[in-house]
Amino acid sequence: MRIKHINLAVTINPNDSELACQGSIQMSNPEEKPFIHLNKLLELEELYLKEKNSRIDLAFSPSEIDPEFFIKASKKWSIELPANYQEKEELELFFKYRGKIQRDEPYKTNYLTSEAIELAIYVAWYPIVELDDNPTFQVKLKRIDNWLWTMNAPRKSESENTIVWERKDPATDLTLLGRPKTTAITKEMSAIFWGDKSFLENFSSLEQDILGFKQKLEDWLGKPKNDAFQIAISSRESGGTYVRQGLISTQGNLPEEYFTTKKKRFLLGWMHEIAHLWFAASEKSTYHNWLDEAIADYSALLLSELFYGKKFFEEILEKHRKMIEKEKDLPAIKEITRSHEKSYIVFYKWGSLILHEIRRKIGLDLFLEVLRDFADKSKKQTVVNTDDFIESLNRLTSDDWSGFINKHLSIKPKVQ
Ligand SMILES: [Zn+2]
Repeated sequence: MRIKHINLAVTINPNDSELACQGSIQMSNPEEKPFIHLNKLLELEELYLKEKNSRIDLAFSPSEIDPEFFIKASKKWSIELPANYQEKEELELFFKYRGKIQRDEPYKTNYLTSEAIELAIYVAWYPIVELDDNPTFQVKLKRIDNWLWTMNAPRKSESENTIVWERKDPATDLTLLGRPKTTAITKEMSAIFWGDKSFLENFSSLEQDILGFKQKLEDWLGKPKNDAFQIAISSRESGGTYVRQGLISTQGNLPEEYFTTKKKRFLLGWMHEIAHLWFAASEKSTYHNWLDEAIADYSALLLSELFYGKKFFEEILEKHRKMIEKEKDLPAIKEITRSHEKSYIVFYKWGSLILHEIRRKIGLDLFLEVLRDFADKSKKQTVVNTDDFIESLNRLTSDDWSGFINKHLSIKPKVQ
């Protein structure tokens, strides 16, 4: 069971930190008792099916989320579905809900205030079944006077009162950002940056570097899936950076040294995020997510080798090894998912070292061909997994890598 499409009409009242939504979701293979997740502070007011011209109201009740569920700021709404609808392959559910948004702890990535709005998967501001729903969507937002908005989707139309975005290919989530024009970066100020203008000067000093990384990755991997490319600088003070179909949201409030003495290390993080424009289709709720993170990490290493030299590259690799050595009892990649506390070291750093080993064995040119082939799959398929990567590797090297990959994914990370 997952949500395939979302149709959402959104009204936001920033002064009261309130949100009101109505619309519908298309669910595939509903279960006997289907459910959706919504933010804890949102109240589901109506839920119904439409049958010809009549409306069939459904009973629903809130409960706690499953302990492993990633979105802790959400609650689960269980739905009573009439028996004759339980067997359907597809179901359209209509809904209405409203309320405030409980922020995601501890990162506080998403918020809804009179100063700015950042809503994404972390606070379940729209109905979610699983992290891997990957819905297509249409969002119609009621405009607020003198506010600017962006989403991880093309703008389909706009009028005096509304803006409509439409995403026809499956997306990780629905990311909606808005802020008053008085504090915003406008189109006239920058072609790639959006968001809080008080941080524009610092970030503008990175523009040429970031565009250079993107161009090099395009040379290696071909065009990314989404032509749109925008970096939204958020006023938040934590939560780092995330990438959604060409829209990158990043925290603006950073130490000055990131833009001066620590610039290279900071840009290494940007190389990683830019690489996600190509690599973001792995299953988020399973260990297969190691692929996106390891490949983004290693792509950043490859860019750093090119832009900052072999010595810098080797130093970073050495840091990876040290991080792993310092840990006593790391789990194998196959044993964990993204929400595990050690996933950063295991997926990103250990994963990156596995890729480095492959590159050492087959050489850089062939390795880049493998990455390009896998990037193509990530572009065309709704989800990719480790077998897709092994297939690319096997075909392009005319060798069988399944033993090598499976061994490295099954053992506890360790440095030789
Ligand atoms: Zn990443």
